[in-house]
Amino acid sequence: MIHNGSDALVVDPGQASPVIQALQQLGLKLRAILVTHRHPDHTAGIDELKSILTGPIYGPDSLTSAGIDHPVKEGDQIAVGPLTFDVWQTPGHTQEHLSFVCYKFLAKNIEAPLVFCGDTLFSAGCGRLFDGHPESLLNSLERLAQLPEQTKICPAHEYTLSNLAFAEAVEPGNSALSTYRQHCLNLRGRNMPTLPTTLSIERQINPFLRSTEPDVISAAREHGATDEQLLAVFTALRAWKNIF
Ligand SMILES: [Zn+2]
Repeated sequence: MIHNGSDALVVDPGQASPVIQALQQLGLKLRAILVTHRHPDHTAGIDELKSILTGPIYGPDSLTSAGIDHPVKEGDQIAVGPLTFDVWQTPGHTQEHLSFVCYKFLAKNIEAPLVFCGDTLFSAGCGRLFDGHPESLLNSLERLAQLPEQTKICPAHEYTLSNLAFAEAVEPGNSALSTYRQHCLNLRGRNMPTLPTTLSIERQINPFLRSTEPDVISAAREHGATDEQLLAVFTALRAWKNIF
């Protein structure tokens, strides 16, 4: 959820009750819902939220049955209050997956864009392949990774610690990883989220954005990568993570 003190925008409401509770506590009106993809842990709260929603529900056009009343696609722009989002198709986790890239506030470009990337990119990890292909997911991640360093990345799940355990298995010699893991352990110990993250952090710690690093390549080669090419390394990492 993001809000300005009176109006709120919610992304991927898998449940309604935490959203309703937060809206009530902070005295907010729900102005829009953005949905990245079809999985129930991103959509199951939509129905109940409709009764208090005063604006549109944006999402992939294949999801009108899940309650999307404003289907959007690659290249569309969405204005929610003072914010403007670009709609990016970021397939891989699922084919219809969208990401929402906010780069304008009150019609002015902001220095650090804000990205809601659903289950495409996680902190220190990436989404599983459901009906997407490794190449699609890799392309989606590479596209996200081209945003500015300070871009705030808002994934849909707090999987950071378990992802970091995998990242350390891939790159045991990466000192940025152990430092960041300690930072995240401290946060989680105080019941605080590790998210949002930034692209600059992810470039240092996320093995799925580091498939050209020699240590990542050699770890992937030991886990089934058929060659040292980017796609082979990435595909092997993603398969390894599934059984990690
Ligand atoms: Zn999902």
